[in-house]
Amino acid sequence: MICHKLKVIEHMAEGSGLSVLHEDLSIQGVSIDSRTIKTGNLFVPIIRRLDGHDYVEEAIAKGATASLWQKDHPNPPIHFPLIYVDDCLIALQTLATNYRIELPIKVIGVTGSNGKTTTKDMINSVLGTTYRVHKTKGNLNSQIGVPLTILEVDKSTDVAVIEMGMSERGQIDRLSRIAQPDIAVITMIGVSHLSSLGSREEIATAKLEIVNGMQDDGKLIYNGDEPLLINGLKGINITKTISVISFGESKSNDYNVASIETNSEGSFFTVGDDKFYIPLLGSHNISNALATVAVASNLGIGPAKVDEGFRSLKITSMRMEKIISPSGLTIINDAWNASPISMTAAIKTFEELTGFSRKYLVLGDMLELGEQELEFHRDIGRNIDPSKIDYVYTVGTLGRHIALQAEKRFPNGSVQAFLDKEELMKELKNKLMQNDAILLKGSRGMQLETILPILFTME
Ligand code: ATP
Ligand code: MG
Repeated sequence: MICHKLKVIEHMAEGSGLSVLHEDLSIQGVSIDSRTIKTGNLFVPIIRRLDGHDYVEEAIAKGATASLWQKDHPNPPIHFPLIYVDDCLIALQTLATNYRIELPIKVIGVTGSNGKTTTKDMINSVLGTTYRVHKTKGNLNSQIGVPLTILEVDKSTDVAVIEMGMSERGQIDRLSRIAQPDIAVITMIGVSHLSSLGSREEIATAKLEIVNGMQDDGKLIYNGDEPLLINGLKGINITKTISVISFGESKSNDYNVASIETNSEGSFFTVGDDKFYIPLLGSHNISNALATVAVASNLGIGPAKVDEGFRSLKITSMRMEKIISPSGLTIINDAWNASPISMTAAIKTFEELTGFSRKYLVLGDMLELGEQELEFHRDIGRNIDPSKIDYVYTVGTLGRHIALQAEKRFPNGSVQAFLDKEELMKELKNKLMQNDAILLKGSRGMQLETILPILFTME
């Protein structure tokens, strides 16, 4: 973000309660982290586990031009250029909203229960063949991450692809009003955040809030296999002239897949007469790719370029990431997160892989699922196919319920529930051999990737 001093005054004045400004400031970029702050940045002290106000002096010492300061916060440092605001987070969001209005770019907002990061990465890769694209780094999809992503956009950018996450109603509404998407994507509706939202209907309604901030002539690209989205769309009053475009398996969708062929590295699929390849495993990734095809074709990118983009895809790590260890183990690292739908999808994909001596599932707890959490875990256990998987190892107290169901159908000794990762690692160290394959899948809180180093040091 390149922001002249007068712009700071305008941006801040609106809605954020600005009361003091040093007239001679010229800001270049915004940062909330004093460790990575750059000369010329505006520092925004956010109050979370740590209080950013404690780092203002450090930020200024490292070259920040100025800092925001929440009015009610005691002991503002003197002799520093401070901009007083009512609420630093709202000020950051206001700054991003106003900056977005000035940006002559197309914004693509991506939300959904699963597949946001993957789809965002796919769209970035495909649009990158034709446009200068700025995308959300990693998973910075929050109330803080989205404004920061927008404020990073350079004016030479053509398109920004912005991931939008949420855990409760109203959050996507706010993010959409900040990013003001030209195109919005809803990947799918799962059961993540069921505990805070109460029902899948509510989850769908929350995702549909993305319509609220869209440009008047925007395009909403949504998963048309999901009845809750179809119904939800009927229920919202779209006063703008937004076009609604569906994608999914069903032939009734505007974009659907005619045929699929998979190999051990990825999938070929056709959309109408156009054939594409994605170097990624899993049928859910074909769904993400289909959403990407819809976005690309709505931005005038032809199928050859779309295919070129897919082939050069670099996915954010820990999403069905295939890794071969030095000792010849194949690890499918899908440890970023887990919900019942994504765990089922990952297991199905893993079951279909062939050519390994033995196949291990290492499954951790799926968190935040609310009242039905035990049943969700049991269902996973009931559906693992013993003819396609050799060992099922679970970690955590919920994961145990996967094991309890699976062991009813597996040979003795091939299913084990571990309470912690140390025990699991000991067992894996004893068992795993060259040419074995292992799937790692669990919720973010389980951090199953922490067992990777041991897999890498095995001989
Ligand atoms: P988060 O809420 O953590 O940001 P996300 O929506 O960005 O998640 P990804 O990181 O793209 O999702 O994918 C996380 C996992 O969800 C993947 O590893 C995969 O197992 C599963 N997944 C991805 N896409 C889909 C999809 N379209 N449908 C179901 N599951 C999916
Ligand atoms: Mg994500």
